[in-house]
Amino acid sequence: MTETEPKGFWIDGGWAAPATSERIQLIEASTGDPITTVPAAGPADVDAAVGAARRAFDDPTGWAHWTAEQRRAAITSLADALTSRGEAIAKAVSTQNGMPISISSVTEAVMPAMLLNYYAELAEQQPVEEKRTSFTGGTTLVRRTPVGVVAAIVPWNFPQTLTFFKLAPLLAAGCTAVIKPSPETVLDSYLLAEAIEESDIPAGVVNIVPGGRETGAYLVEHPGVDKVAFTGSTAAGRAIGEACGRLIRPVTLELGGKSASIILDDADLPALLEQFFAATLMNNGQTCYLGTRVLAPRSRYAETVDILTDFARSLKVGNALDAATQIGPLATENQQRRVQGYIEKGRAEGGRITTGGGRPADLDRGWFVEPTVFADVANSHTIAREEIFGPVLTVIPYTDVDEAVAIANDSEFGLGGSVWTSDPERGVQVARRVQTGSIGVNNYTLDFRSPFGGVKASGLGRELGPEGLAAYQQLTSIFLA
Ligand code: NAD
Repeated sequence: MTETEPKGFWIDGGWAAPATSERIQLIEASTGDPITTVPAAGPADVDAAVGAARRAFDDPTGWAHWTAEQRRAAITSLADALTSRGEAIAKAVSTQNGMPISISSVTEAVMPAMLLNYYAELAEQQPVEEKRTSFTGGTTLVRRTPVGVVAAIVPWNFPQTLTFFKLAPLLAAGCTAVIKPSPETVLDSYLLAEAIEESDIPAGVVNIVPGGRETGAYLVEHPGVDKVAFTGSTAAGRAIGEACGRLIRPVTLELGGKSASIILDDADLPALLEQFFAATLMNNGQTCYLGTRVLAPRSRYAETVDILTDFARSLKVGNALDAATQIGPLATENQQRRVQGYIEKGRAEGGRITTGGGRPADLDRGWFVEPTVFADVANSHTIAREEIFGPVLTVIPYTDVDEAVAIANDSEFGLGGSVWTSDPERGVQVARRVQTGSIGVNNYTLDFRSPFGGVKASGLGRELGPEGLAAYQQLTSIFLA
């Protein structure tokens, strides 16, 4: 992997030598083998990255002052540079975090360029100033300007896609950025840096400082930062939200979930298993919006459990780089231990495992956990309340639709979800009653033209769609006579 050799930090359009000797050990999720060590950013590195982003933003003829058309040309060149590296990016992500290559080849390899092109075009269509007739019959100029230097902090589960949920709209809006990748997934961020180097994005507009929690916390509070965009756990989101509250610093938080998949009594589940997989088990269960609380009607409970059990057993578990793999390993040993801990707790609280529950017999290395189905789960059980972040489904019975909706809404979270039915109109009626940021009927397919985000402890603000661009813009009203 010569193109992903550790080089220091991508700051101000070049590779800066690390200020400290601290290093991050990268590990291959499918084997547990060490890959390499890379430098971890400390405060001085973050200072340098924020300084570069600040200068690039404050430059009176710089990125923030380019026309949307000029920015679009540069953003398109970045999209092209990423596209030519798509395969390498997918491989780097899957090697590090265990995402099946069939998924990373689509999400990590393709989505970033699509998002860049979508937002560059959207920003070009949007006028910088808009005239409104004022209350008194005069005119008001409503002016949109970029919010400034953005600290973008991302998790390891979809490292590139989630970076671009932020980077694509912020670049289109005219902001500059300091990205802090997770310590588990650093190699793909080097490929991103190489693509930036090849593109026409000016020096200092995007800076990348991989590091752990302390690096992230330091970046969040940095006086040179104007806005924070975070995706990650609810616990970290609370800490970041508190800091931003104190600083009155705008913040977008995309956090954890425990979404419900409501199977209505008329659903033809066997015909929808491919879509059901995407909505409940995608990326080894390590996707924030998955509907891992499966709500099944009592009248068809045993049948539903059997269908899901057979389906989970049929999934091909294996090395993330194998094109046939449907379920790869978890991202880290810690994550594997955590998921096994939840499985033990689920058992202890009275859940009945119908398949899975441990390490696959034929895989003695890597951070694997078998696809697991729990029946006889109550919504009060720990495995129905907390985010497991692994290939574990809990099947909860309900008596009627009102009870299904009540169970779906009885959660600290509200991020995704789905409704399964032979009557799509009925599905929409049920979907409307669920307290969540997004929900699918007979599928769950993220749409980057529509807002994505959470309610309750799943987050604050929205990414994607025009709303995702507005999140990086300031508004000024100029009142004319
Ligand atoms: P995490 O919160 O531990 O880490 C996420 C990122 O934040 C990492 O880069 C980490 O170094 C950094 N970080 C951690 N604590 C921080 C702090 N106090 N201040 C600043 N930065 C800090 O999450 P994770 O385990 O890497 O990711 C899994 C979590 O992310 C899950 O809970 C999942 O649901 C959530 N997630 C949410 C979405 C969404 O869009 N809502 C998408 C993907 C993942």
